[in-house]
Amino acid sequence: MRILIAEDDGVLADGLLRALRGTGAAVDHVATGSEADAALMTNKEFDLLILDLGLPKMHGLEVLRKLRARGSTVPVLILTAADSIEERVKGLDFGADDYMAKPFSLQELEARVRALLRRRMGGACDNIRHGPLVYDQSGRVATIDGQMVDLSARELGLLEVLLQRAGRMVSKDQLVEHLCEWGDEVSNNAIEVYVHRLRKKIEKGPIRIATVRGLGYCLKLLPGEPATTTAPTATRPSTAT
Ligand code: CA
Repeated sequence: MRILIAEDDGVLADGLLRALRGTGAAVDHVATGSEADAALMTNKEFDLLILDLGLPKMHGLEVLRKLRARGSTVPVLILTAADSIEERVKGLDFGADDYMAKPFSLQELEARVRALLRRRMGGACDNIRHGPLVYDQSGRVATIDGQMVDLSARELGLLEVLLQRAGRMVSKDQLVEHLCEWGDEVSNNAIEVYVHRLRKKIEKGPIRIATVRGLGYCLKLLPGEPATTTAPTATRPSTAT
């Protein structure tokens, strides 16, 4: 997951960076509205924007307005001063998905970030199923036929991106953008190495990471298996009588 933080308070930004990197996300930080706007224009692969409204050079609301005007659906969590109800309402009206009033607990922020990313992954529940593979988004644990799969942080990140787009092609450039922060030197060749490692761990039964030659990868199931769903593993509708 790739997250952009737009926050001009250095101490708060550092705390956010540390907390979110701790969850395994790739996180970038900008301190002005104009930088946020430029970053969002250049990189379309952010999975979440955490946006302070009181930003120098361009107000957070203007960043948000421009982002939505470009048709972007990236989830936005706005940070506002505690006393500005009007700004919060405006923010939500402008297309923000959630807000937090300062000061807030990092724990609560992490929970809200998880909820937004979960929705982004296509479901309100924690588990994403792909054939025999079940991925628990909160715990960041993958199992195949109930057996836990031991994955590194990078491999988990890769699996998340592929699962989010299961059945569709993901280019190497997209993978780099989702997995790497600015300054991370990760080449397309390195992506090939990560994919190779992930394949060795998850290609069991019908699960395959297919190579779309020269373009990218696609997570799929060999025929005869149910498609990816986000239905909880335990519940199953009773058969009609
Ligand atoms: Ca501010």
